[in-house]
Amino acid sequence: MVQLHVFLFPMMARGHMIPTLDMAKLFSSHGVKTTLITTPLRAPTFTKAIEATRQLQGNEIAIRVIEFPVEKAGLPEGCESLDKITDDQIPNFIKATFMLQEPLEQLLKEYHDHPSCLVADMFFPWATEVAEKFCIPRLIFHGTSYFALCVSENMRKFKPFKNVSNDSEPFLVPNLPHQIMLTRNKVPLYDQDDIETDVTKLMRQIKESENKSFGVIINSFYELEPEYSEYYRKNLERRSWHIGPLHLCNGRLNLNSSMIDEHQSLKWLEPKKQNSVIFVCFGSISNFTADQLREIAIGLEASGQEFIWVVRKTEDEKECDHQNWLPEGFEERMKDRGLIIRGWAPQVKILENTAVGSFITHCGWNSTLEAVCAGKPMVTWPLFAEQFFNEKLVTEILRIGVGVGSKKWSRTTSEVVKSEEIAKAVMEVMVGEEATELRDRALVLMEMAMKAVEDGGSSSSDLRALIEELSNPT
Ligand code: UDP
Repeated sequence: MVQLHVFLFPMMARGHMIPTLDMAKLFSSHGVKTTLITTPLRAPTFTKAIEATRQLQGNEIAIRVIEFPVEKAGLPEGCESLDKITDDQIPNFIKATFMLQEPLEQLLKEYHDHPSCLVADMFFPWATEVAEKFCIPRLIFHGTSYFALCVSENMRKFKPFKNVSNDSEPFLVPNLPHQIMLTRNKVPLYDQDDIETDVTKLMRQIKESENKSFGVIINSFYELEPEYSEYYRKNLERRSWHIGPLHLCNGRLNLNSSMIDEHQSLKWLEPKKQNSVIFVCFGSISNFTADQLREIAIGLEASGQEFIWVVRKTEDEKECDHQNWLPEGFEERMKDRGLIIRGWAPQVKILENTAVGSFITHCGWNSTLEAVCAGKPMVTWPLFAEQFFNEKLVTEILRIGVGVGSKKWSRTTSEVVKSEEIAKAVMEVMVGEEATELRDRALVLMEMAMKAVEDGGSSSSDLRALIEELSNPT
């Protein structure tokens, strides 16, 4: 057995960096030498998080920084991560990421002990070529579910959306283990591949790199989506290892820093009754319009439930602390019933709190998985990326959530979901018999998730198999 040295390079986006950091901790806890690569803007986030867990878990993770060529790619200063760019900056952002290939090669050349493996984000298809040059395996990290990968693949292969007469006519996604109906409105344009854009080109390169790479690491566990794990491996013939839920590597109570423990939201939750609060958070990228935020406020008030609501910022405002979207007197009326957090919240800890009964989510895969591990049912409100696919998994296959009625894929919310629909969905997951059934099913999955990462569990075994294979290259 050789000493493994794994390099991990995530996309500059929190939804990709958080699970990759957890993956680094996981490899490191198995005695694997681990180096995380990132760009200057994001480096402090990694350094802080690694420092916070080093004393607790004894991890030894190195961090290497490579410049992100903002200027060369024609991007404004600071536009170094997905949450910082507007739609029209996407082509330049993609261009900048392709310029990372050369500095990455230079960096790897410095290691005379020879890197063993490169785990690079799906957004870096050129990383397969880098790994080839160093004769090492390239593993891809998509950061999503098996289910979403299978839907996306069959969408591209069979193009079922070609047979419909309009964007809201349902069609069946062919050849999947379940009957999954979608509409064109819910499918990302890059999966429809109709018009060649920088994004569709990138997506094609990503798919091609998948076929040429050593395999795929999935942040999921077998018991959550067994049919799709099998389908991905057997029918789609991809080598993959499911080693998640990755955030559970932080232990049941997650990042234990005192700063997080003292967060106002956790203090606010302390006196609350079990399952009495709904948590509302839409990930690290999405922004809503003022109109949509107002509808959410009215909906939450009408639902009669207690809530914690995280607001990043509105699309039409620069700062998240402007309040002109709140209905008049809302904060005063809600002062004992609701907490609005502007900015960033310790989501995992909030979800794990027993006072939290359910979660309104945009169905980003990390958020979905975090809700599953906390045993919390969801109100699903997909917006873009593969979130509409994840919604299907949650509401129709796992049956641990109800949809709010989101109908159209968009990075910028175009269709406003009305307060009545929001209040109705909140009630469905919070009170009554259906809510209890949703919660019971979610709790069963939570137990399965915990078992998957225990010694001998499905994810733990897959991780061992992967490490074994990397340690004994043929
Ligand atoms: N997150 C958080 N606090 C926030 C917002 C997001 O901790 O206020 C975390 C969340 O727990 C998850 C990640 O950010 O781990 C978001 O990833 P996801 O895939 O759900 O969505 P994305 O941000 O990629 O759209």
